[in-house]
Formats: sequence, structure tokens, C-alpha cells
Amino acid sequence: AKHEGRSVYRVYNDDMGRANIDKFNLMTQIRQALKDKQFRLFYQPKMDIRSGRVCGVEALIRWPQPDGSYIAPDDFIPLAESSGVIADIGHWVLQEACEACMRWRQQGHGSVGVAVNLSYVQFRDGSLERSVQQVLRQSGLPSSALELELTESMLIGEGDDISRQLSAIHQMGVSFSIDDFGTGYSNLGYLRRFNASRLKIDKSFITDLGVSQRDEPLVRAIIQMAASLGLHSVAEGVEDEATLNLLRQLGCDEAQGYFWSRALPEHEFIAWLKQHNAI
Ligand code: C2E
Ligand code: CA
Ligand code: CA
Ligand code: CA
Repeated sequence: AKHEGRSVYRVYNDDMGRANIDKFNLMTQIRQALKDKQFRLFYQPKMDIRSGRVCGVEALIRWPQPDGSYIAPDDFIPLAESSGVIADIGHWVLQEACEACMRWRQQGHGSVGVAVNLSYVQFRDGSLERSVQQVLRQSGLPSSALELELTESMLIGEGDDISRQLSAIHQMGVSFSIDDFGTGYSNLGYLRRFNASRLKIDKSFITDLGVSQRDEPLVRAIIQMAASLGLHSVAEGVEDEATLNLLRQLGCDEAQGYFWSRALPEHEFIAWLKQHNAI
């Protein structure tokens, strides 16, 4: 039971029959949730370490339950991927994030851009380019305000076709981050092949940085490598000031984490922005 207590979905290793029924039920519920517009986007600020100001926002999906709890994305995104429904969820996420970001601009809450997580499945049928074009046009958000977060495995796995789609989207003016950097692959050749702006260092390397020296050499190396490739480095999962101070010393550009804020529902996020005078 991997995520015990966090969700209604559990894997019963000792009873695979039960696991399959749970999965089937959850899959049905995911489809229904999309139809019923049950999903929500939460927003987490991303900070510029040098200026201390908000420099972006990451949109993170949430699935509210009737009892007031949430099913975490890690507990339903993989299943939504295996059933293909992630393509429709992904389109909804893009649309909702672009509309929200546009709303903040119109309401005078500043002009930070929004970052959206993509699934590898969204590259499969070749419709992503059209999907991005459509949400930008419908929302009126400038393409430079949209950033797509991709993981290493997506950039290595399928090669040419993904590169082609990404360069078309890049030409629209949309930017890319490499998410969870350091967890996936040892072959870094893909970094040369496509136009990313940011490297997001996985939070597993950041979490203990303030208290243990173990991960410091690795984080330092990643930050230096990002800089020499002309990429901004972003640390995710920053929870305390000691970690922030160390990252600042190491020359990290941006950071995200509970030290500033968790991902919040839109109205709370806007209140946070105002309170932190972050405009
Ligand atoms: P991710 O893209 O690596 O997102 C970062 C995760 O770290 C988020 O978890 C965020 O809430 C959490 N986090 C942020 N700051 C801290 C911190 O200081 N400490 C700790 N312990 N955690 C922190 P979340 O929202 O549960 O999302 C988990 C993963 O689900 C994401 O990882 C992403 O891979 C996926 N995901 C979330 N939203 C979407 C979406 O709209 N579409 C797709 N395809 N995947 C999504
Ligand atoms: Ca992300
Ligand atoms: Ca990440
Ligand atoms: Ca992740």
C-alpha cells in the first residue's frame, strides 16, 4: 500500500483481484470526474532567488472528494495515462491554466506566467500543437506566458516525433522546463536536442540539503551544468531557509516549495500574491 491514507486508491499486493477491481472503478470514476468537471487546479508560486520575487506559477491538478479530502495526482495520473483519458484531462488543464493566468493579468495581479505539467501520452496522437494553439487563442494569453513542464523520460523515449512537436510549439513562443531532473536518465544528450529554458532539480535532491551535505555536490554540479547550457536552474521542494540560503550560495536561479507556499486554490493563491506584495 504505497500511498496509504492519502487516497481511496490502494494497491493490495496480496490480493490482485481486488486491486484490479479498484483500478477499474477508479478509471470509471476518473472519466466521470472529467465529465462532471470535478477536477481543480491549484497554484504554487515559483520564486526568483536573487530578487526574492514571484517569477512564475505552477499549476497542479487536484481531485476533490465529497468528504473534503483530495486524491493526489500521483494516485490517479498514472492510471489516467494507462487508460488514455489523460489526453482530455491534459487539454482541460492547459485551458484552465491559461484562462486563470489571463484572469490574473486582467485583474491586475501581475504578469507572471503559468507552468503546466504534461504527460507523455499527450504527444501520442500529434494533437498537442493544435491543443496549445487553441487554448492560447481562446484565452488570449500571450504564448510567452505559458511554460510546459516535461520529464526526462518523455524527451528520450520517443525521439524524433516529440522533438518535431516540441519545436513547433517552441516556435509559437511557448517555453519548456525539464521536470524532476536527475531522476531519470544518465544520457544527457537530449539536453542539446531541444530548446528548454529551465532545469527543475528534483525535490529528492533538495529535501535534505539544509541538514545533510550528502546531496550538495550533485546539486552544485546540476546548477553549474544548467548555467553552462544557458538554462535557468530551479530547485523544487524547498521547505526551509537553510536550504534556500545554500541554494543561493550555489547560484541556483529559482525555487519553489512549502517554504513560500503549497499549491493553493485560485482565490487563496491570489490572496497570497497580494499579501506578499508580489506584484
Ligand atoms: P511535480 O510536477 O514534480 O510537482 C511537484 C510536486 O511537489 C507537487 O506535488 C507539489 O505539490 C509538491 N511540492 C511542492 N513544494 C513542495 C515542498 O516543499 N515539499 C514537498 N514535499 N512537496 C512539494 P503534487 O501536486 O502532488 O503533484 C505530484 C505530481 O503529479 C507532479 O509532480 C506531476 O508529475 C503530477 N501532476 C500534477 N498536476 C499535473 C497535471 O495537471 N498534469 C499532469 N500530467 N501531471 C500532473
Ligand atoms: Ca512539475
Ligand atoms: Ca518536479
Ligand atoms: Ca514529479
